[in-house]
Amino acid sequence: MNTKRKKLYEGKAKILYEGPEPGTLIQYFKDDATAFNAQKKATLEGKGVINNRISEFVMSRLNGIGVTNHFIKRLNLREQLIREVEIIPLEVVCRNVVAGSLATRLGQAEGTPLPRSIIEFYYKKDELNDPMVTEEHITAFNWATTPEIDDILATTQRVNDYLCGLFNGVGITLVDFKIEFGRVWEGDFSRVILADEISPDSCRLWDSTTGEKLDKDRFRRDMGNVIESYAEVARRLGIMKDMPTVIQGGLH
Ligand code: UDP
Repeated sequence: MNTKRKKLYEGKAKILYEGPEPGTLIQYFKDDATAFNAQKKATLEGKGVINNRISEFVMSRLNGIGVTNHFIKRLNLREQLIREVEIIPLEVVCRNVVAGSLATRLGQAEGTPLPRSIIEFYYKKDELNDPMVTEEHITAFNWATTPEIDDILATTQRVNDYLCGLFNGVGITLVDFKIEFGRVWEGDFSRVILADEISPDSCRLWDSTTGEKLDKDRFRRDMGNVIESYAEVARRLGIMKDMPTVIQGGLH
């Protein structure tokens, strides 16, 4: 008898299903794209396949340098096996260059390099438009403890250093990115690990020479060639070889 697997959660770009063993989940990457708190929506054919591959690549590399994360293995074109975590309701944004909300909120010119990377926290709450919060809010409302915040900050810096080098090596500037963290329990003790995804949906990636945007801003700002740009990121990272030809065909 075939039993239907259990859908545990459906978000804007991903679905989580029950995994094959306790403590595991299956993360499915959809083609759906949303922006401005889901006011703008579209389906971008092939996006899920590319993001699954890019996130696999980045998370595996991070695992390889000791940045523990939820990724276990890719299962197929759109799915990966991950560790189940208790998601901490924060979006952790790290910035190297002024862009997006930093530019608009503080009236700074987009493209200005920052003298040092800036880490910001946003409370994950769609109804409130993910407001920016400080460490004091995070501890006051028990979203994370002070030692957990320290771990998150240190890990985010490491991820930033590693990813800046990785992308720089293929002619891409890592302008900013968003990551999420979750708790895993070992007996009575919990540990915070990196979770979610790292892809052109959650990073700003600019061609280092031309400044061309190779990320979700192409969708947010109706610039066109969204999938082609995501595929270009994958191609530069050397992970297009086993990608379906329909997506490779989108490259110019
Ligand atoms: N970001 C994200 N999800 C969000 C908000 C931001 O992945 O819900 C990423 C975004 O792609 C960018 C970085 O976090 O790489 C910083 O985003 P910003 O605060 O500038 O907000 P935005 O311009 O996306 O509103």
